[in-house]
Amino acid sequence: MSIVLEDLTKRYAGHPVVNAVSLTVGDGELFVLLGSSGSGKSTLLRMIAGLTEVDAGRVMLHGRDVTELPPARRGVGFVFQSYALFPSLSVAENVEFALAVRGTPKTARRRRRDELLELVGLAGLGGRMPRQLSGGQQQRVALARALAHQPEVLLLDEPFGALDAKVRADLRRTIREIQRELGVTTLFVTHDQEEAFELADRLAVLSFGRLLEAGPPEELYLRPETEFVATFLGTANLLVGEATPQGVRVGPVCFPLGTHAEPRSADIVDTTAARRVQVLFRPEDVAVRDSAEEASFPLLGQAVVDQRAFIGSFERLRLRLPALPGVRAIAPVVHFGSDSIWIEATRSQDQARRFPLQTGDTTWVGVRRVHALVHPGLRFLLLTDGSAPSRAALALGGELARLAHARVAVLAPGTEPGEEADRRLQEAREQLGSGVASLESRTSGEATPAAVAEETSRRPCDLVVLGTAPRDGLKLAEDVISAGQHHLLLVPPEAPGRAPERWLICVAVGEPGKADVSFAGRLARHLRAEATILTVLPEAARLDDGAQTERFLASSARTLARMGIPVTTRIRYGGVRAEILGQLRDGGHDLLVVGSPLPGKDGEIELKGVVGRLLPELPGLPLLIVRSPEASS
Ligand code: ADP
Ligand code: MG
Repeated sequence: MSIVLEDLTKRYAGHPVVNAVSLTVGDGELFVLLGSSGSGKSTLLRMIAGLTEVDAGRVMLHGRDVTELPPARRGVGFVFQSYALFPSLSVAENVEFALAVRGTPKTARRRRRDELLELVGLAGLGGRMPRQLSGGQQQRVALARALAHQPEVLLLDEPFGALDAKVRADLRRTIREIQRELGVTTLFVTHDQEEAFELADRLAVLSFGRLLEAGPPEELYLRPETEFVATFLGTANLLVGEATPQGVRVGPVCFPLGTHAEPRSADIVDTTAARRVQVLFRPEDVAVRDSAEEASFPLLGQAVVDQRAFIGSFERLRLRLPALPGVRAIAPVVHFGSDSIWIEATRSQDQARRFPLQTGDTTWVGVRRVHALVHPGLRFLLLTDGSAPSRAALALGGELARLAHARVAVLAPGTEPGEEADRRLQEAREQLGSGVASLESRTSGEATPAAVAEETSRRPCDLVVLGTAPRDGLKLAEDVISAGQHHLLLVPPEAPGRAPERWLICVAVGEPGKADVSFAGRLARHLRAEATILTVLPEAARLDDGAQTERFLASSARTLARMGIPVTTRIRYGGVRAEILGQLRDGGHDLLVVGSPLPGKDGEIELKGVVGRLLPELPGLPLLIVRSPEASS
């Protein structure tokens, strides 16, 4: 393999801008790294070239570990976005530069230079100065220069970024042709999805420093695994439906489960996500029909045409469906307070002529095929009241959301709409900063538990993050976790805003423990955290053979290991509270995970037991309370 990256990591100011990226690019492959601005593309490329130092991980080029080698000894050619030609050297001298510094004899240099200028379509222009060339021509020179010393690997960092559309299209073709002709392994970085699709043999999507998915363009477009990739690559209709034994239910329609819809890992066998499934269909998978009888595919219902646009060879429709029972829309985004579901559709001009539609018309909407996502995205609800604990909760909740790609809603309870409310939400948004996949915020006049109940009944969330003063937070924590079906993260005011890396997961042997482990795993795997799973047994149990406990711990550990989380297990004997505190001290853990007790007859969850006794003893330590499946039903 030509390029192998292993867990490549770069931090700036403690924050990972490239986060444990592993990637393999084959011989002669044109591989595209796609990500929005600031996602870490240039940093990653510069680490491969040796222009930026690596904090962790390895770079292998053609089987050779080059992590410690200087750029000139790595055998790579690099083309930057800015032309970066030497302005006082002629085109010919620019191209020859890499050969001259390597001491190549003059005649060989000239021959190679002429070949390259021919190759990039600039034959005869060697005598010009860079300023006498157009932007597109200058990038052709930069390409010729990068190829002069016959690098085994070519790295291109948004090489067409500054050029206009027509020139970009020409250059794309040139790159593709040259790359094929020379067979040089190429890593091409862009933020432009169309460019990525057109060029890539395979592509990878990078977001906030993490490589989310890699594969052939068509595969990622049709069968993405993550919500981010589904919505990032092209237009997506993404709805949350329900998994049933027959398939995926979306409102009135049940789609049979295809091979790609099977959950592949333990991570969706989680309490709140167990029945929820994200269903993707592309605009071209949507069909519109005059009458319900005509359709040969499942119908979602009758919609109104909200917008219609001519986009060259296609017609684009935005359709508004009335709310469907049990269905929530992720994309297109539904505005707060609206019950409608928006559907994006495209059809050929031929279809549009045969069945013309105008804005305001009513039409039946069907779906030809759907794809269920393997990894349902997480949704966090962060609570803020402007206090010190709630600032700590926003800081940690925001960091977790960034790393886990969770969608975030910020809720300020006990605040009537007005200037004060706006100020508080603005403050929260500023504190969260950029980098959260999606962020909504709202106020509620209700007190915290009622506000959470109202919010989560409308839009369920996986995790509520609550800032809490350790000594008097218990009642509030009980009320908040009882207010919905979510897990709860309690954040004390002293908690650092960075993501915890050494989790202690406390489980009691038996069923509920599995949920603790699997939700903790879903979160931890995004954070590169390591976990210790702890079971505390009474002193008397020292005499038993402990085989059942060992088996249980081993199976819990396997669940986490399958998610790529380094894990160890521990059994301690004694009092639960004392032993958990002992392990926290001994193990230097920075997050504690416990399962929640089952709710009582009134549906309330009481945390007086282990949680209540631990809470006052955890200065600075966030506490994740995971509800067991029984607590959700
Ligand atoms: P991209 O090329 O995808 O736009 P970059 O790799 O240039 O992204 O940068 C990713 C993030 O890393 C930036 O948003 C910035 O915050 C940070 N970063 C990059 N280079 C530096 C640097 N030299 N010093 C501090 N932060 C940096
Ligand atoms: Mg860049």
